[in-house]
Amino acid sequence: MSIPIATTIESIRLAVSAARGQGRRIGLVPTMGALHEGHASLIRLAASKVDWVVVSIFVNPTQFAPGEDFDRYPRTLEADAALCADAGASAIFAPNPREIYPKPLLTWVEVDELGKHLCGPSRPGHFRGVATVVLKLFNIVLPDVAVFGAKDAQQLRIIQRMVIDLNVPTLIEVGPTVREADGLALSSRNRYLSLAERSAAPGIHRALHGIRARVAAGETDAERLRSALEAELIAIPGARVDYASIVDDATLQPIAKIEAPALAAVAVVLGKTRLIDNITLP
Ligand code: AMP
Repeated sequence: MSIPIATTIESIRLAVSAARGQGRRIGLVPTMGALHEGHASLIRLAASKVDWVVVSIFVNPTQFAPGEDFDRYPRTLEADAALCADAGASAIFAPNPREIYPKPLLTWVEVDELGKHLCGPSRPGHFRGVATVVLKLFNIVLPDVAVFGAKDAQQLRIIQRMVIDLNVPTLIEVGPTVREADGLALSSRNRYLSLAERSAAPGIHRALHGIRARVAAGETDAERLRSALEAELIAIPGARVDYASIVDDATLQPIAKIEAPALAAVAVVLGKTRLIDNITLP
């Protein structure tokens, strides 16, 4: 089975309003393509909540800093379309950058505070680009429900806050992180990894899991947990640790003690590939 691929704002709006005219509720799963089983799980979750799911596939230039992997980001539209159809999507929105950004943007969405820690310092402008393009996609598709992955925890918190602050009438649903059998979180960027990097990469999830075990054993001091996490990540062959943080699960601010739900979140660079992952605590 194949599904329609709209490349213009006008055509996706027409398709969405036809579906809405038939009484369908609309879901949106925003992605950058190079889809994998993690994306498929979000599409299935959306399809379990609403009757008509749009998957957007857009490698968004405004969320990449100069020198990041915008140009080499994998683009695999044909395979993506098959995965979307299999997972229960009804349409794909795959615009090119000129369609989304016909003029240089003068209007941006910035979600203060939540962008300051974790990935914020090493990816300046990233979350502003994400929040802005997600609001544009919401305004184009007008979804009742939009689904995001817990793997991108900071992005998720930012979108959740944006819809509250700006009264966006879309319900945000969250899908759990889908992993390989060895624990590595699925990511479109995993295909950049060399064989040696790929075999080292599950160490990231092992390190996060180790921290959860320490919390289960009674450790509550966030700095001791953080330095143990960092030490385990540094020990991964070829890894450079961008950050290893223990933060409040809701505010993403660093904490001193594990008292309320918390998040252990990391970014690790293996070769040229930056991987992020997180685990909730306790
Ligand atoms: P991306 O295409 O990487 O921008 O991701 C699109 C959506 O898929 C985001 O909401 C991500 O959080 C989500 N996602 C990415 N990887 C995974 C995964 N391994 N499991 C579940 N969701 C994921």
